Amino acid sequence: MRFRSIPRLIDRLHLHASIPVDLAPLIERYEVQYQPLRSILGFAFRYDRAGLIGVNTDLHPFEQRMVIAHEAAHLTMHNRDDYYSCRRGDWWHSRMEMQAQFAASLLLVPAGRLVDNVHDGATVEELAALYEVPHDLIMVRFGLGEYAKARRR
Ligand SMILES: [Zn+2]
Repeated sequence: MRFRSIPRLIDRLHLHASIPVDLAPLIERYEVQYQPLRSILGFAFRYDRAGLIGVNTDLHPFEQRMVIAHEAAHLTMHNRDDYYSCRRGDWWHSRMEMQAQFAASLLLVPAGRLVDNVHDGATVEELAALYEVPHDLIMVRFGLGEYAKARRR
């Protein structure tokens, strides 16, 4: 597992140049397919150099952004598996899923601005709207909520 690969990916693709984070460079890097996937939020597998990411079209657009970042995190950080299939309930029961979810929060919620926003008194809901992510991902970014409970297990 290589968490250090996440800041490198952010730098290389200039992902934190704007708020909300523009995922176009990530979508260009990977082949992203949108399709209905029932209970699966997204999947990823490696082929050629980068990989393919699948996103469930039934999700809210903010959740779709989170799933693209989560799957890109698997492809960037994890070498163990060639195929990742992700369901919401899995995130807090698997170390690898927790890592991908935390990495998604790093990709989509830049630290610098976040500190200013919090200082200005923004609520979790306001931050979620600003960064165009589900509010759960803001909680993950702060190391709170389900993520915090799962880490203590
Ligand atoms: Zn996953």
